[in-house]
Amino acid sequence: MSVIDTYGRRINYLRLSITDRCNLRCTYCMPAEGIRKCSMSDVLSYEELHQITQSAVDIGVEKVRITGGEPLVRKGVVSFLTGLHRIPGLKKLVLTTNGLLLDEMADDLKLAGVESINISLDSMRPEVFSRITRLGDVNRVMAGIEAAERAGFRYLKINMVVMKGVNDEEVLDFAALTLEKPITVRFIEYMPTAREHDWQSLMIGGDELLSRISRRFSIQKVVNEALDGPAVNYRIKGAAGKVGFITPISRHFCHDCNRIRVTSSGAVKSCLFEEGTTNLRPYLAVGDVVGLREALRRVAGRKPLTHSFLAAGEADGCQFSMSQIGG
Ligand code: SAM
Ligand code: SF4
Repeated sequence: MSVIDTYGRRINYLRLSITDRCNLRCTYCMPAEGIRKCSMSDVLSYEELHQITQSAVDIGVEKVRITGGEPLVRKGVVSFLTGLHRIPGLKKLVLTTNGLLLDEMADDLKLAGVESINISLDSMRPEVFSRITRLGDVNRVMAGIEAAERAGFRYLKINMVVMKGVNDEEVLDFAALTLEKPITVRFIEYMPTAREHDWQSLMIGGDELLSRISRRFSIQKVVNEALDGPAVNYRIKGAAGKVGFITPISRHFCHDCNRIRVTSSGAVKSCLFEEGTTNLRPYLAVGDVVGLREALRRVAGRKPLTHSFLAAGEADGCQFSMSQIGG
């Protein structure tokens, strides 16, 4: 059983944020002082998050991505993941992290049943990395990536948000990471989620990055597999890994978007840019599993055709922190 929305898209992917807390303050994601956090009582318990996942699988979700905030800062995350992995019908349990805690947690995540990990890394240069993240030490992320490889995560993905004049000089270095290792480096267009007035001067489209990379390397398009994300992927000739382009701004991928999102406080969204949300708490509070399932089905079924950021021709960006929704 699965949900087919009004526009014929099959909705089978849930992004589940398990915390709005983070150990970094990336400039494109939140202000320096951080965002107003949900009170602890607003954050769903692991039992509630498990119930939501179970209900999502009941209506046809096959892939769940755990995100945040930074998911690895939440205590007890490994046991929570072990429980999720046991849900019959869940085909893929995956995780997105900033990598700071991976060095110590990669083995446990593998044992818990996490199939693959996306690591956000916007620069390999220590000063640039700490400027973008405001707090981060890139060496810890690099150690985390190595630990994940040692733990047996063979197909790691590295996500780089590319910003003109900030880190775009490193695009070829990032592409070169795929030569020897079977990793996928994905270049993500910068999204104006925090209403930065200069966002257009920072944004570089996927097409420009593709042409920069193809001037340096010979590359070929790769066909995506089922449940792959929205990236358009290429392989540098002879390379072990792939490079991908995620272009929410220059070439949106709404036509085959298959995802819904649930925040750590129980709001479900059918689109990252959707303004309204549906609150799942009332169903959780009374143990109404049928109501929960139907609420998820309703939200999934009424996904907008395209995101409102584009529909409204919005030029100044919209106002939310990606850490509150999970990216
Ligand atoms: N803390 C984890 C991390 O950074 O990977 C998970 C949550 S983070 C919100 C999820 C993803 O959203 C990251 O890959 C991050 O780079 C991306 N992201 C956040 N703000 C963004 C923005 N304004 N434009 C593009 N991507 C953004
Ligand atoms: Fe934290 Fe991830 Fe947002 Fe950076 S992108 S501030 S690591 S939630």
